[in-house]
Amino acid sequence: MPRDYILALDQGTTSSRALLFDREGHQIGIEQREFSQHFPEDGWVEHDANQIWATQSAVAIEVLSRNQMDAEDIAAIGIANQRETTVLWHRTTGQPLHRAIVWQDRRTAGICQNLRAAGLEAKFQEKTGLRLDPYFSGTKLKWLLDNVPGARAQAERGEIAFGTIDSWILWNLTRGRIHKTDSTNASRTLLYNIHDGQWDAELLSILNIPETVLPEVHPSGHFFGEAARAGLEGIPVAAMAGDQQAALFGQACFVPGQAKNTYGTGCFLLRPIGSKPSPSRHNLLTTLACTTSDHLAYATEGSVFIGGAVIQWLRDSLGLLKDASQSAALAQSVPDSGGIHLVPAFSGLGAPHWDPEARGTLCGITRGTSAAHLVRAALEAIAFQSADVLRAMDADHGIPLAELRVDGGASRNDFLMQFQSNLMQVPVLRPEITETTALGVAYLAGLTTGFWKDPSTLVQQWRVEKRFEPMISADQADTLSDGWRRALHATKAWSEK
Ligand code: ADP
Repeated sequence: MPRDYILALDQGTTSSRALLFDREGHQIGIEQREFSQHFPEDGWVEHDANQIWATQSAVAIEVLSRNQMDAEDIAAIGIANQRETTVLWHRTTGQPLHRAIVWQDRRTAGICQNLRAAGLEAKFQEKTGLRLDPYFSGTKLKWLLDNVPGARAQAERGEIAFGTIDSWILWNLTRGRIHKTDSTNASRTLLYNIHDGQWDAELLSILNIPETVLPEVHPSGHFFGEAARAGLEGIPVAAMAGDQQAALFGQACFVPGQAKNTYGTGCFLLRPIGSKPSPSRHNLLTTLACTTSDHLAYATEGSVFIGGAVIQWLRDSLGLLKDASQSAALAQSVPDSGGIHLVPAFSGLGAPHWDPEARGTLCGITRGTSAAHLVRAALEAIAFQSADVLRAMDADHGIPLAELRVDGGASRNDFLMQFQSNLMQVPVLRPEITETTALGVAYLAGLTTGFWKDPSTLVQQWRVEKRFEPMISADQADTLSDGWRRALHATKAWSEK
């Protein structure tokens, strides 16, 4: 029987999903299950790794049965995962030693501060392309080894394994036979040297992490092992990648003039920069991009903390909207934002500003300010913040952006997409399949197993659903950006006590 489908597992922060793609790259099935979020202390966020596996394996089986398929119909599995989330488990029992520490968790801020005080930030930055921030896995792993009773001794005896969620899913899929990760996930740990593509002995020693716990690293498109779980037996696991890098691949963004922006709760922007890991001079991250060979490829990355979440705030806290989708019509009911700017720095500002103390600011209110103006300013703020990251990318690499490919929940908002195009003066392209994370690992798995012959298939199969062209002049765009800069200035002034 021909194996005509690829199964993509998309293990996200709030849900586990499984999707099926056919040879034309069409999405033909999807199942999803949410799982619990644990907040044991202020700033701490944990997941139960067993529940992650239980929900992920359940949706994988469900998507097959709902589409009348079994393991024999599947050519390969690709795994995309929430990045940086850290699991430590026993190699013999397969049981986690502690709940997984999620990427959002801030408990290791003190460890990062101490490393910074010891003058080590430049070293970490140079070798890993990252900043010393609790976001990344390395300090979370150190915390687990230092705080779970007996963990360090067990680690030194080689009894326990560390992994990001990709490794944890692979371990479980293969019934504890395989402990591997891919280079995109490794590049988010603060432990991996992105220049030579190796775990870095010096950084491991600074963080006091024994090498015995580490997974073996491979390119994202690679034969990682064979699934051994009931219902999935014998399917090759042929791709693993962190969700944002998977989305960059799924958007078929391969050249430096292209970038992708995922407009979800936050905005995640990535842009390929080729085969040289040039460090950012404008406060962005350098990270590894997906490949199907040992040749390393790099991307530059910046995140906006509050993207679509500002619309949730208008809906849930201010009651200005019943549904996020109403925001476009309301914004378009006024000709402009009436001179107001909303800077939604609810939990600080992300790239390229990196101001943890900043808080939200609303500038320019008059008696004429209406709910429609506020909604419009909120949507515009999503675009202004994304533009700040895109301009930092332009400045870093000297290559102007040629087009922006978009996905995520808020990319459905036509007003927002048009405004983004106006502001950046580039076309904004929304693809037919906006499940680009799953599509990315499906492509990687398909290329690795010969299901698809070469990457050009992918470029041909990527189809645009709607294209937004700039509809204002460059001068008008500059005027808009000037207003935003003044509002940012006001925000920063407020946070400087
Ligand atoms: P995540 O994966 O981060 O949970 P999604 O990609 O599902 O996010 O997108 C959800 C976010 O997009 C929410 O914050 C929501 O407010 C926003 N959103 C959804 N639809 C729209 C819309 N039509 N206009 C603006 N924002 C929207």
